[in-house]
Amino acid sequence: MNASFPLSLYLHIPFCGTKCTYCAFNTYTNLEALVEPFTFALAREIDIVGQSQPGQPVHTIFFGGGTPSLLSPEQVARLLSAVRRAFVLLPDAEISLEANPNDITRDYLTALRSLGVNRLSIGMQSAIESELQLFARRHDNDAVVRAVSAARSADFDNLNLDLIYGVPHQTLANWETTLRQALALKPEHLSLYALGLEDGTPMKAWVERGRLPAPDDDLAADMYELATDVLANAGYEQYEISNWSLPGRACRHNLQYWYNQPYAGVGPGAHGFAGGVRYATVLSPRKYIDVLNDAEVSYPFPYTPATEQAEVVERDTEIAETLIMTLRLIREGVRRDDFKTRFGSDLLDLHGDTIERFSRTGLLHVDDERVRLTQQGRLLSNLVFRELV
Ligand code: SF4
Repeated sequence: MNASFPLSLYLHIPFCGTKCTYCAFNTYTNLEALVEPFTFALAREIDIVGQSQPGQPVHTIFFGGGTPSLLSPEQVARLLSAVRRAFVLLPDAEISLEANPNDITRDYLTALRSLGVNRLSIGMQSAIESELQLFARRHDNDAVVRAVSAARSADFDNLNLDLIYGVPHQTLANWETTLRQALALKPEHLSLYALGLEDGTPMKAWVERGRLPAPDDDLAADMYELATDVLANAGYEQYEISNWSLPGRACRHNLQYWYNQPYAGVGPGAHGFAGGVRYATVLSPRKYIDVLNDAEVSYPFPYTPATEQAEVVERDTEIAETLIMTLRLIREGVRRDDFKTRFGSDLLDLHGDTIERFSRTGLLHVDDERVRLTQQGRLLSNLVFRELV
């Protein structure tokens, strides 16, 4: 990797107060005693990655999880100090932290803001109490309202709210209520996720046993279309399949993923793509702490003692991954000039037949500047992505 190209950093915080019924992320409950030693191990991993690529600029940091708002301000400070020591953190860096609405008070957020955290992503998920209970979320809608108010009074001017649609028993009217309540909070950004039934989750088991109806794909598509209209009318730009923002407030960290540009993932179960390597770290927080406690200092970038799987990404794979990630940016699509600069070939010379076919069937729009999904293509994006790979 070119050391002058800004890197993004993802910090995985693998702890939650309770486990949500749909969640298959690498996150654990009842491990409070590990949080403090974990933050030292994570700071150590950050040091190791940074030392293997001296002078590397970083322009976005994302504290994800898990529930990063379980960290104390001192622990967040420890981690940000490690980043500043190990990398060149750019002055305008976007520093995001995912928060559970119940965890955040004005004092807590004021402390985070003074440390440089400048974007919050709040897990609202729904404004409907029965849906929050079905998810086993540990907050109600009032807690979300209080959390947003606390964030504003702590000087956060860049907030995201996460919402889920396509939920068993959810009606279009309930979904519209959730959307309207979210809009009333005036977030700069909204991420809307269709509920997926993930292996090993209670939600999937309940559907399989007939205790809950299976998600209705047609209804979920109607919810997506409703959201597209409601958010457009409220002045939000849909810049990615699942993401909307006020103008200029797209999430820079996530754009790094969608441009398929390098990011280092640290923490248990983090994924990264940097130095031409796609990799994942060890899942278990205990094992993670142990391997970092015993760590040697020197590892080739982007490896660390916590790296468990790694694969060198060949050019053809990088091209395919870049296409399917960048096509998710529905307004921008793939800029043909950028593609040629990065890969040395014209996109149409490499994938002309497939692109021409999807253009004829109305799923892709192609012009001299770019290739992007059409409105219909967004609904059938998986079909397009499969063919491009
Ligand atoms: S808070 Fe987030 S990471 Fe934790 S269990 Fe719920 S959905 Fe998963």
